[in-house]
Amino acid sequence: MRFLLVFLVVLVLAWRWRPWREAVHSEALRNNTAAPQTTDTVACLQCGMHVAAQDAVVGSLGAYCSATHRLSMES
Ligand SMILES: [Zn+2]
Repeated sequence: MRFLLVFLVVLVLAWRWRPWREAVHSEALRNNTAAPQTTDTVACLQCGMHVAAQDAVVGSLGAYCSATHRLSMES
């Protein structure tokens, strides 16, 4: 009898666990499918290639894709 009671408790817990886990999983998926973050880009003054603003090399005339292009334009 005691084994049957333990079995029923485990069965009920498993039955309640699955919908809860799926709800958490679907909520996580919903958060991941939100609008992607946009990144500001700037065009290199020397070659015109667009790079992320945070990765651009900024010189006195503007932004560049690399230190080499900054030196070639500003030296
Ligand atoms: Zn460049």
